[in-house]
Amino acid sequence: MADFASLGLSDWLVKQCKQLGINKPTPVQENCMPAILEGRDCMGCAKTGSGKTAAFVLPVVQKLSEDPYGIFCLVLTPTRELAYQIAEQFRVLGKPLGLRDCIVVGGMDMVRQGLELTDQPHVVVATPGRLADHIRSSNTVRMNKIQFLILDEADRLLEQGCTDFTKDLETILGFLPAKRQTLLFSATLTDTLQELKNIAMNKPFLWESTSETRTVDELDQRYILTPEKVKDAYLVHLIQKFTDEHDDWSIMIFTKTCKDCQVLTMMLREFQFHTISLHSMMKQKQRFANLAKFKASVFKVLVATDVASRGLDIPTVQVVINHNTPGLPKNYIHRVGRTARAGRNGVSITLVTQYDINLVQSIEENTQTKLKEYPVVEKDVLKILTQVNVTRRQCEIKLESTDFDEKKEINKRKQLILEGKDPDLEAKRKAELQKIRGQKKKFQQKIQDTIQRQKHGQLKKKLRKKAADKTA
Ligand code: AMP
Repeated sequence: MADFASLGLSDWLVKQCKQLGINKPTPVQENCMPAILEGRDCMGCAKTGSGKTAAFVLPVVQKLSEDPYGIFCLVLTPTRELAYQIAEQFRVLGKPLGLRDCIVVGGMDMVRQGLELTDQPHVVVATPGRLADHIRSSNTVRMNKIQFLILDEADRLLEQGCTDFTKDLETILGFLPAKRQTLLFSATLTDTLQELKNIAMNKPFLWESTSETRTVDELDQRYILTPEKVKDAYLVHLIQKFTDEHDDWSIMIFTKTCKDCQVLTMMLREFQFHTISLHSMMKQKQRFANLAKFKASVFKVLVATDVASRGLDIPTVQVVINHNTPGLPKNYIHRVGRTARAGRNGVSITLVTQYDINLVQSIEENTQTKLKEYPVVEKDVLKILTQVNVTRRQCEIKLESTDFDEKKEINKRKQLILEGKDPDLEAKRKAELQKIRGQKKKFQQKIQDTIQRQKHGQLKKKLRKKAADKTA
């Protein structure tokens, strides 16, 4: 197996890696780093937790040490928390160089970011929306010397999901020099290869982990089949069990919506679990503070939406619980990838209702892994069922009395305005669509009722005829 020196890193950088406990290159590093150091564009697809970040940070730091010049490298990433995590790796590995980084993400002071950007840092780590805002609103930002453009979690940046980065990416790409090295990394890159072709790349070196499975072997993947109404009782039961048995374990729970995330956090606190939340309706400072407290194990339970599903590297996370079954296999892969990282063990448990069976099948097909049932003593869960459901309802009522929904509405309106849409017109359109859907549902129900009545009538007729035949 190659070592870092033979891959082309200088002695000082190899030493810096050693200080961090990074001794031998992982496969994604061994394969991608020589190509990047050679000056090639690169697409790396490796399982989450397999050292992807260092696979691009190390060659960039190496090249920077050879020729530091202006803003040298721009990294784009979909979430703000991930931006901080990546910047930290640059800072630590580039410390002997005095590497200066600048983080440009939403929810933080824009003026300060603007000043830092004009101060020509070596590396800028950004979320696309905020960086595009800077480019559009200022003529002092210069990025014409950029040597590296890196898209981390590239598929998420390029897909048109609930947050669509397309326009912001266009603004940013139009601002960068055409002559540069472009690097794309993700755990689920191959799903969106088509979209990746839109990024100008020069005969990229493509590396994909050869393993058939898309999750790591160290991850024990489980499910629990449960009616919707019993889900929360299972959740409380599982957390109780894990915290009783392992007081040093941290647990991440993924939910579908911000409201679910908030209610579950409140509910788990009522049960005296040290719980904290992370979702997009929180203030950014609170998001960072909560994540820091969870990373430091001050709180052992984190309830989060998919905003925390990608890339976050928290070694103490031993358990991931999916409170809802993710609708897309790749979201499942990223969520469960928050545990069993860098060779450690971990367990993931997905709460599955009867309506989610299809989703589980497509997850199994996609990951090439069969989920196993997680054994639970049902009697113990049923014992706490009423108490859990009453507590949840109380928390829901408490949340309703705050302005949570109102804030959500304001956030939605803000988003629509930013997208150049009229919020009132959109609301009207949505209401009309809902009305049409309601009418369609009613109509379908009517047809079903008529069919049912006809069947019933025919059956009655048959029975009457049978009875008449018998008496004749
Ligand atoms: P990543 O996939 O980039 O999120 O990295 C996951 C974890 O693996 C991080 O904590 C890294 O510090 C760690 N790591 C990265 N490269 C190596 C390596 N070659 N050996 C051991 N750990 C590593």
